[in-house]
Amino acid sequence: MKIRLKDYRIAPGEEVDLKKRKTLVKPAYRSKDDYREILADHVARLSDLQQRHYAANSYGALVIFQAMDAAGKDGAIRHVMSGVNPQGCKVSSFKHPSAIEAQHDFLWRATRELPERGQIGIFNRSYYEDVLVVRVHPEILEGQGVPEHRYRNDTLWEERYRSIRDFEKHLHANGTRIVKIFLHLSKEEQRKRFLARIDEPDKNWKLSPSDVVERKFWKDYRKAYEGAISATSSAEAPWYVVPADDKENARLIVSQIVLDLLEGLKPAFPTVTADREAQLQAIRADLVAEEE
Ligand code: ATP
Ligand code: MG
Repeated sequence: MKIRLKDYRIAPGEEVDLKKRKTLVKPAYRSKDDYREILADHVARLSDLQQRHYAANSYGALVIFQAMDAAGKDGAIRHVMSGVNPQGCKVSSFKHPSAIEAQHDFLWRATRELPERGQIGIFNRSYYEDVLVVRVHPEILEGQGVPEHRYRNDTLWEERYRSIRDFEKHLHANGTRIVKIFLHLSKEEQRKRFLARIDEPDKNWKLSPSDVVERKFWKDYRKAYEGAISATSSAEAPWYVVPADDKENARLIVSQIVLDLLEGLKPAFPTVTADREAQLQAIRADLVAEEE
């Protein structure tokens, strides 16, 4: 079944209602084998496109992942990017800001991780955390010297949305192509995955007590995500809300999004000029002559 990305893309200006958006849809695969085949095909095409993207060296590609815990960000990144050349790809994870990072504006630490031309940058969480977890827990801002009256009303968040829109517009104008992916998980599916992380010893390391604390703020996160996605999905940097209760299907959708992003850049190996061709032939002649 063809994956229709339009079903998941958020139009600019659209008010997102996450309750109305599905966390589970009819899968794009018919069986586990079929899933593996489609994924392998996507991965092979991605690998080819990435080589061209790297050689063309004209755009940077940035894929941002956001989600609640256990939604499958890590697995999606691992599977989808499994075929790409590590030299052309960098994954950056954004955790609690360090003391130095907290001394700067909220976009600062992300700018240092942006992909160069010819590269793919993956953000595992991002500056969106500053309008998500920080909005759910505004006390975080206290430690960063932001006066309380600033975040007790909505202006701070609206300003941050504007900063993000302007930032992404600026990146687009300067050759970075961006997609943003929200892995949309149901609360019930998160509960099951947390239980599996407790019951299966190999998964124990994945569960931290703070994950369970954040779960209690589910509704607040949903509202924060709805606000952020609605305010920042643009033609230049669209959001995709990807149903994530079925990990395999989510990976197929995610790989299709990344494929579309790279295909849209029409990456081509640089063409050889007549001068360059003559130069190559001269070098060739010398190398052949060396043979005896
Ligand atoms: P894992 O799948 O390994 O759990 P993770 O992305 O959840 O991956 P953690 O180290 O568990 O990584 O969590 C990182 C934490 O850092 C998250 O709870 C996230 O909300 C928080 N965080 C990220 N950016 C910020 C920020 N700017 N301000 C405050 N907290 C942040
Ligand atoms: Mg975590």
